[in-house]
Amino acid sequence: MSSVLSQLVEELTAGRVKVVDLTQPLGPDTPVIGLPDIFASSPGVTIEQISRYDDAGPAWYWNTLSFGEHTGTHFDAPVHWITGKDLPNSSCNTLPPGRFVGPACVIDVTADVDADPDFLLTSERIEGWEAEHGRIPSGAWVLLHTGWSRRTTAEDFLNVAEDGPHSPGFDRAASEMLAHDRDVTGVGVETVGTDAGQAGGFDPPFPNHTIMHGAGKLGLASLCNLDRLPATGSIVIAAPLKIVDGSGSPLRVIALAPA
Ligand code: MN
Repeated sequence: MSSVLSQLVEELTAGRVKVVDLTQPLGPDTPVIGLPDIFASSPGVTIEQISRYDDAGPAWYWNTLSFGEHTGTHFDAPVHWITGKDLPNSSCNTLPPGRFVGPACVIDVTADVDADPDFLLTSERIEGWEAEHGRIPSGAWVLLHTGWSRRTTAEDFLNVAEDGPHSPGFDRAASEMLAHDRDVTGVGVETVGTDAGQAGGFDPPFPNHTIMHGAGKLGLASLCNLDRLPATGSIVIAAPLKIVDGSGSPLRVIALAPA
């Protein structure tokens, strides 16, 4: 074993490195993104029992699961968006697994989002973060810490008004900077999707999906516990189910962080 891996095991055992769960529970109460009525929508979570130590299976318990690929804490593959549809190795089963592991850069904008739920991360704001914490490295998972996971009811979490949902995200220039200039692995957010609630009306519509997936980058939505990570110095592991031609998948996202 390499010395760094044996040292990692030692650090985990000694409790000097902690495993942080960035995942929301997945169940019937999991909120699902709403789309305008002209589009097909994704169903919520259904868990149907096959047997539970009963006549249907006297010694075993198991369930049948039903949900959309983009439900709860979930992974967005590049093929999810039309801009990524022709990229090689861009679906859940073909992405190289090395891409699922990377250093985390956590950008804290909770105060901004508390003041304005439509807050957008800008490239200037990223440069400000870098002046304090160093340049975002190639292959990083950039996690937008908005505090949105504190919203525990579906109503508060989806935050839909008459003019559509209101939740934070990235502006076009920030997405272009992360995808092209910083060559990140992907972005992770606490909200239901990687674009802001109002992003259907942006130019281009849904700029984060459009730009990131067009560049082969990944997405993580509905994360939590980002307040337990340092700005830099932790590692995110986010491996989707190996769904054949899958556009995304619920997953368990964990981080290794200094205790
Ligand atoms: Mn998604």
